Amino acid sequence: MDLQLKGKKALVMGASTGIGRAIAEALIAEGVQVMICARNEDKLKKAADHLHCQWISCDLSKAGEAKRVTQQAQEMMKGLDILVTNTGGPAKGNFLEISNQQWLEDYQSLWMSVVESLQVVLPQMKKNHFGRILLVTSLAAKEPLSGLTTSNGLRAGLAGLSKSIANEYAAFGVTLNLLLPGYTNTDRLKELKLSDEKVKQMVPAGRLGDPQELADLATFLASPRASYITGQSIAVDGGVLRGH
Ligand code: NAD
Repeated sequence: MDLQLKGKKALVMGASTGIGRAIAEALIAEGVQVMICARNEDKLKKAADHLHCQWISCDLSKAGEAKRVTQQAQEMMKGLDILVTNTGGPAKGNFLEISNQQWLEDYQSLWMSVVESLQVVLPQMKKNHFGRILLVTSLAAKEPLSGLTTSNGLRAGLAGLSKSIANEYAAFGVTLNLLLPGYTNTDRLKELKLSDEKVKQMVPAGRLGDPQELADLATFLASPRASYITGQSIAVDGGVLRGH
């Protein structure tokens, strides 16, 4: 299938490693001009060298950074057709362990960074009558994950916000969808040191996901071929979410 992605322009956030990087790589393989951003400049430069793409460093946990980086990408690339928002996962903690400071930090990085970058891209995508927006969130958007309190609250909220924006922009050729990674084999997950036994218990597919599996879906949703899919939260989780 020709995904008709050649020549499109994309900004992929949180793309020096893991899921973001896999999405950037998959888009580049389809002929998309990609700009990546992330916090750790050394890792970011290495990823950009490997992928042969442009990069800008940013810290999405700081107010105004998502706006700056999106504006910069839009200017440098003379427009953006595709925006993928993604960042590091939040700190763990049960409800009473989370300080107000932590709530504000996670609100900035998981919520406001998305709002800031949407404020930049939506007017131009509407004018162009084309736009593809993908928000990488988590299974926590549909089902709470134990000990990930801020993620459970903020990411469920993003699913509601995405419906609102999808409705408002569908008539202008702009789609917005949420990608919900399940247990995916990245640096973040390696820190959890899950045993094979535990993975088999938790995941009906009996294994961790590969970032490439999520990136394949992202690439399709980012393409003109996916023009009738919007406002959806799609899990790539080997069957972990049991509800419908
Ligand atoms: P990862 O740690 O491998 O990669 C995170 C990327 O985001 C890196 O490029 C990192 O530099 C960047 N980043 C981190 N903090 C940043 C900041 N403040 N500003 C800018 N960039 C920043 O993680 P991953 O596994 O690829 O996860 C990506 C997202 O998916 C996370 O939000 C995570 O919570 C979510 N998720 C992952 C899994 C999983 O199993 N891997 C499961 C559910 C949800």
